[in-house]
Amino acid sequence: LLILYGSNMGTSEEISNQIANEALKKGYKSRVSSLDEHGDVLPVEGAVLIVCSTYNGNPPDNAVKFLNSITSRTGADTYKGVRYSVMGCGNSDWKTFQLVPRTIDEQLAGLGAKRIHIKGEGDASGDFEGGFDQWYSSLWGSLAHEFSIGISEQDAGETMDMFRLTNFEKETLQPLPVPAIYHQMTVLKNEELQQVALSGRSTRHVEVALPAGLSYQPGDHLGVLPCNSETLTARVTRRFLLDPATVVLIEKTGTGTTFYPLDTKITIEHLLRDCVELQEVATRKNVKTLAGLTICPPEKKKLEWLLSEDENGYVKYVLESRRTVLDLIEEFAACEITFAKFLELLPPLRPRYYSISSSQKQNEGICSITVSVLDLPARNGNGQYLGTCSNYLSGKIPGTSVFAYRKPPVSAFRLPASIETPIIMIGPGTGFAPFRGFLEERKWLMDNGAGLAESVLFYGCRHPEQDYIYKDELAEFERRGVTKIITAFSRANATQKEYVQHKIYQHKNLVWQIMMQGGIIFICGDGSRMEPDVRHTLDTIYREKMNITTSFSWVDELIKTQKYQTDVWASF
Ligand code: FAD
Repeated sequence: LLILYGSNMGTSEEISNQIANEALKKGYKSRVSSLDEHGDVLPVEGAVLIVCSTYNGNPPDNAVKFLNSITSRTGADTYKGVRYSVMGCGNSDWKTFQLVPRTIDEQLAGLGAKRIHIKGEGDASGDFEGGFDQWYSSLWGSLAHEFSIGISEQDAGETMDMFRLTNFEKETLQPLPVPAIYHQMTVLKNEELQQVALSGRSTRHVEVALPAGLSYQPGDHLGVLPCNSETLTARVTRRFLLDPATVVLIEKTGTGTTFYPLDTKITIEHLLRDCVELQEVATRKNVKTLAGLTICPPEKKKLEWLLSEDENGYVKYVLESRRTVLDLIEEFAACEITFAKFLELLPPLRPRYYSISSSQKQNEGICSITVSVLDLPARNGNGQYLGTCSNYLSGKIPGTSVFAYRKPPVSAFRLPASIETPIIMIGPGTGFAPFRGFLEERKWLMDNGAGLAESVLFYGCRHPEQDYIYKDELAEFERRGVTKIITAFSRANATQKEYVQHKIYQHKNLVWQIMMQGGIIFICGDGSRMEPDVRHTLDTIYREKMNITTSFSWVDELIKTQKYQTDVWASF
């Protein structure tokens, strides 16, 4: 099996590795690579499985060349003899849901490859695992059928541990090496941007020192590797009655690959803090494993019920309430899970991305991010839910360091190359982050004699006295003529909620005028509600201006000509 992925945030890559592990257990020889690393020459021996996502309509960074290549080919026999299946990872809140995997699937079929198994579609805004399972549960059957090989019904290794942990005497250990893409960056500033006493919420301005030679442009992201909090890791050590300072060595006893540092001494505390996600929702497979390890009849019965078709079962109790493996093993205390098996059920700790909110021209050697701190009543009803990375960053004291790397945006989310191109920026809340970088850069250009084209920022928050982040700086940008600012406050007025889309409509003549002068619209922030509302408003403005009643979408046209640039993510 050749398993190829297109992945920016790591989900498709993780799934590919899971498939490869399972394949090994089932006796298949398998290889995993990114689509671009492997390239567009696909083998006619064995099968090709492609797991891929879409970002605002674009392919992941490591699938760009592959997609360009297969969409520019035409020969109906190009991939004759290639046998494949595609699994798409997406989020249906986005209009471009599944665009890239669907394109790959259709192109391969059109170029003569044989689809040997249905196309899979996982939807992160709903039951992702359910969608994945639909594809995955029958995958091995389809492969066996295609290659005329027998299938083993045995679910090998489900209850056997994949690791053996050996305890050692306590000793002081060197920290684990961090993957080479990360740089150690010293935190220079960490400041609150909201009036927390009034808003009850927190947004942090975090500045880090860049290592020598590392540069960035406004529009880039910083990928930050977090650590799990002590509160979380202590819950694990309590459940397994472990001393966090215990030194262990992990050896692999089962088949498959792993992200854990094998054959390396590490304390349990570091293992839990630096290697694994502890707050991911438990999958159905996890629940099945826990049920298999529970003998106590009432607890086993409830775990098995979670796996039933009952609508109050897995979807309500686990998925929608976001219960984790840790939540479940605390609740089902009779589950006889070993610590090694627990580790096997957890995904690797992944970086979180933050729009860089500064300009290097203004801040030599420094980069800032603007972090909205996720601290809300937990959906499972147990206290507060504290997001891993935002709370980790929130608590970082100046002088300490973080591991991070610079990541360019997937789309052309950059200030226009020509200073004569006017821009419209739409960025409510932390969506303003990249625009702070844009504005600092424009200010620097102005201070250095450039005559800049028009710029308008639509900024929104709840209340001007509560969560208006960077308020004074914005006033200064406007005073200096760096940009015009139009604000929308959703909770300032008891009778009328105003959002950025309302202000865009109110200022439709200005928006139209800028776009008729060849302007570019940039939009950043909540991709599930705000961006679709803005898109709808812009389409309405176009129809009014052009006096048409058809369903023609102006925004779709703007996207094609790169005049509508998005940097959006799912809000909570
Ligand atoms: P996590 O520990 O990852 O938790 C998030 C998960 O918790 C989600 O699955 C969510 O569904 C779930 N959840 C939410 N509320 C609850 C609840 N009440 N109970 C239980 N579970 C809940 N963020 C910024 O602040 N600033 C930026 O500039 C920025 N830029 C971004 C750019 C990109 C391209 C992307 C993809 C994201 C960006 N984000 C930004 C979001 C950021 O990357 C993180 O997702 C965010 O900080 C939350 O991460 P966390 O580790 O704190 O939360």
